Amino acid sequence: MRPKKPKRGFPDHKTLLKFQKLQLKIQAFNAYGGCKCACCKETDPEFLTLDHINLDGGAQRRKESSTGRNWGWGGFHLYRKLRKEGFPPGFQVLCLNCNFGKTRNNGICPHKSPSRPLAERLAELEALRAQARLVICFQTTNRGHVLKGHGFSRANTA
Ligand SMILES: [Zn+2]
Ligand SMILES: [Zn+2]
Repeated sequence: MRPKKPKRGFPDHKTLLKFQKLQLKIQAFNAYGGCKCACCKETDPEFLTLDHINLDGGAQRRKESSTGRNWGWGGFHLYRKLRKEGFPPGFQVLCLNCNFGKTRNNGICPHKSPSRPLAERLAELEALRAQARLVICFQTTNRGHVLKGHGFSRANTA
């Protein structure tokens, strides 16, 4: 068996691929503001990713993916597609924290618009529970005239 032919000066195909992927990543990051989170200025490349400024990344991945699923498309494939299109605007470099925080906080990173305290969210849910309980009490005390649906407005007008 002949030894594997070196690929473009690399010892094997795997190393060539690694090189190409890394090159692509650097090109993509440079095209979108450099190897730095646009929000918190994180520079460690392992934390960084490309973020759709307006689009929901999940929707984009589902659209582009041959399987129609949310996963299996992104990263390398996205970078390659963007390079083919000449790195169109609409993307930015974000760290995973800011990227994730943004999706969970209505499109704004919690660094810029603090998310609501957990205790406040819990209190809101508890208030909803108390409200629902009142409606249920009202319904059970009016047997024969059971209300459908929930909420004060219907209970009060009945
Ligand atoms: Zn960040
Ligand atoms: Zn941030």
